Amino acid sequence: MPEMLAALSSIRTVEEMIAAFRDEQHCRRLLESMVWPDGRICPACGFKRSIALADRDTGKRRARPGLYQCSSGDCRFQFTVTTHTPLHSTKRVFG
Ligand SMILES: [Zn+2]
Repeated sequence: MPEMLAALSSIRTVEEMIAAFRDEQHCRRLLESMVWPDGRICPACGFKRSIALADRDTGKRRARPGLYQCSSGDCRFQFTVTTHTPLHSTKRVFG
């Protein structure tokens, strides 16, 4: 998402920053483009494929937006853009 980074780097004033972070979804996309410039990476194992749980319609309450699950069969770690986990850490879900 290079256009998101361009938008962020163009911020010069407080007013522009407020506009850029005006809602949660917009803020999360900006953050994701900074943390994962080359795509989502599982913070637990480094696997480069994951699914967005919020996109799945389970018929129950939808998952929290921005929550992803590692596609590695050995991991299945659930994480958000703000989850920072050392590779050797035990499996935990934050936040
Ligand atoms: Zn993983």
